[in-house]
Order: sequence, then structure tokens, then C-alpha cells
Amino acid sequence: MKPKIDWESQIREKGLRATKAAVLVLKTLQQIKKPLSHDELLERLNQSSSIDAVTLYRVLDRFTQTSLIERMLGSDRVSRYRYPQGDHHEFFECDSCHQHFQLPRSSPLPILLDQVSHQLKSQASGEFAISFNVQGTCRSCKIIS
Ligand SMILES: [Zn+2]
Repeated sequence: MKPKIDWESQIREKGLRATKAAVLVLKTLQQIKKPLSHDELLERLNQSSSIDAVTLYRVLDRFTQTSLIERMLGSDRVSRYRYPQGDHHEFFECDSCHQHFQLPRSSPLPILLDQVSHQLKSQASGEFAISFNVQGTCRSCKIIS
């Protein structure tokens, strides 16, 4: 069984108000495990509840500012948000539909990135982040074209 995550405390620890909407947004992002844009997330949330677009923008903004979630900018210049998933930081982005897909777990890239990150840490004292994108066309877009 997975350990139960205490969403309210996670949010309060960042000095934010753990509103119903805030908890729902964080929980949904954690469950989906891939980056979603504001609109995609809004659509998903409104299947089971009702959150308006402005509230969602505010929640996403606060979560990003306090690093509760991560924001990534796609090649379409659209921001997508995701809950940090530890080792799952590799994504393949489709150039056509801009959906993100996780790369296979057996990919050697996480190990390489870890090594690079380790080397950088021992050399540099400043802050840094490694971001990595794989782009192309996903299977469903390829079938259409
Ligand atoms: Zn696609």
C-alpha cells in the first residue's frame, strides 16, 4: 500500500492556504504523473468538481513560486505543470500535439544525468538545474499524418 500523502500539511508548510481547490490541484498533478497545461488540467479537474480558470491560475502560480510543483515551458511556448516525481524527469514531447510522455524506465539517461549532476556539484558551488527534452512525433499524431 502506498503511504497516504498529507496534502494539507504539504501546502501549509509552504505558507499557503490549503483550500479545497489547492488540495485537489496538487493531488491531481501527483496522480497524473505527467506535465499538464493550465487548460488540460482545468478540463481534468472539472470532470469531478468545478474550479474556475482564474482560481486555477492562482493556485498554479503559488505552487510554482513555492516549488511545490514544477513548471516547464514546451516548444509551443505553453507552460506545463507537474508534481516532482523524483527520478521521473525525462519526457518525450510530441511536436504536434505537445503531449508529454515518459521515457522508458530502462533508459540509461537518468544514470548519465545523475553523473553529470554529481560532477557539476563537485565543481561548481552555485545553483544549477539540468533540463532535458526529447522531441518528435508521438504514435497517434504519426498515424494521422
Ligand atoms: Zn502527438
